[in-house]
Amino acid sequence: MSGVFYDRFERHAHGEGLKAQSTHYCAGCGHGLVHKYLAEAIGTLGIQNRTVAISPVGCSVFLYYYLDVGNTQAPHGRAPAVAIAHKLANPESIVVCYQGDGDLASIGLAEIVSTAQQGLPISVIFVNNAIYGMTGGQMAPTTLMNQKTASSPYGRERSMGQPMKMAELIAGLDGPVYVERVALFDAKQRNRARNAILKALTLQVKNRGFSFVEVLAECPTHLKLTPRETEQWVRERMLPAFPLGVKKDDAREPWFRPAAPLYDADQVLAVIGGSAAAAPRFCVEFPSHIDAHDVALKLAGAGGDGAQTAAMLIARAGINEGFDATHIPSYGPESRGGTSYADVHVASDEVLSPASPNPHVLIAFNAPSLERFAPAVRRGGIIIYDNSVITAPPAVARGVAIHGVPLARIAADLGNPVVKNIAALGALQAATGLFPADTFLTAIRQALSRKGAALASNEAAFARGAASIAAATDASAGPGCGRMQADGVPCALPSDDCDACVEAGRYARETRGVHSG
Ligand code: SF4
Repeated sequence: MSGVFYDRFERHAHGEGLKAQSTHYCAGCGHGLVHKYLAEAIGTLGIQNRTVAISPVGCSVFLYYYLDVGNTQAPHGRAPAVAIAHKLANPESIVVCYQGDGDLASIGLAEIVSTAQQGLPISVIFVNNAIYGMTGGQMAPTTLMNQKTASSPYGRERSMGQPMKMAELIAGLDGPVYVERVALFDAKQRNRARNAILKALTLQVKNRGFSFVEVLAECPTHLKLTPRETEQWVRERMLPAFPLGVKKDDAREPWFRPAAPLYDADQVLAVIGGSAAAAPRFCVEFPSHIDAHDVALKLAGAGGDGAQTAAMLIARAGINEGFDATHIPSYGPESRGGTSYADVHVASDEVLSPASPNPHVLIAFNAPSLERFAPAVRRGGIIIYDNSVITAPPAVARGVAIHGVPLARIAADLGNPVVKNIAALGALQAATGLFPADTFLTAIRQALSRKGAALASNEAAFARGAASIAAATDASAGPGCGRMQADGVPCALPSDDCDACVEAGRYARETRGVHSG
């Protein structure tokens, strides 16, 4: 086992002192023992370098803090799907799917059943403690009849269904080769649990097929019992509902033939139209005139407006310049006419949260998007909207500048309606100076590397989008901040009447060199 656990658990006390040697589990929790047996099996089989552990959502979500193996943390109930991906991408890997009862037997029920039936050599360790641990002790599919939980305060009764016997259910499928239920409540049971986990991994090493070990485990915290009392509870209460023993042990021959994964970096780059060469850089510094470390943007419109593509191009431009950048698409119900929006961050060092609930910049392609997100733009921020489709923009908060740009009309004039999002990028560049124009144009050219015919209209759209901001600024013809105000008229003279000059004076000075009053 030596070396399978990390020497220090960084999660606790920054890896210092005694706390760095202990897990986050409650005293008497079964997870600690299961982790130990899993680590022992990995060490015994000498497979640490090719083991991938998939941790679930639940109390054992932090498995990756403890086992020094390849680790992936899966969304709730989706560990088996992630395990399949690992196994097929790297057939030599030993994939361990570690799940609790809420994760596996509730939200992930369909996943585990279909994965077990598929029968790929994957080892599933299923920890059944008859309750939801992490979320506060609610009733799980495995909760016993009459057992009181946070969500069944009078006890589980017939109308709530009966405890789900996962080992029996999985054993009834054709795919698995080995299914056993074990427990931890005394030394003899612990020895059986240790052997079962070792056997499950051994079968995978031999490519024999899918294996499943259900471990009846203790959760003293939510049973409100001492660790010793909980062991007794598992023995006396859980065993009648969940009989121990081997449920299936199929002696079929190894059938899985690991083959070297086909991976050729040049081939992958060719397929995705990428290049190993670094993109040229044009930024001399991070755009700290917008934010010192992290610029948040939101792009929103209807499906097909190109918000997601524009968001990807901004993120790509940021990465080309050596910054950290993220893009989260959220499509929502756009097929029914709803809003599709994208959150983008560009950070000097690291994006700590990719969501943009209060962006510095909003680009809105339609009226619902503008209505919905304009109030969230932070003070000193900028809104760019398509005034060919939004004729009556809402009033915006003091200190927020708003620019109407005829995005759809620019695209239509160019004979290519899909480039309105590129016109928006031109407007973004001119209005904010987020990156130099060449940074955006490089990202656009990269994206269009295999669609050369479309490049001219995209570049023209970018230039026209930028020019429309410049025209609005020029129209101020004076020392005003030049920003479009809520009434649609650019600020021509700095005065107390100009929200942007008064509230965003600092921004105006630093980005435009324009007097703010
Ligand atoms: S809540 Fe229960 S399952 Fe979760 S760590 Fe504590 S004892 Fe273990």
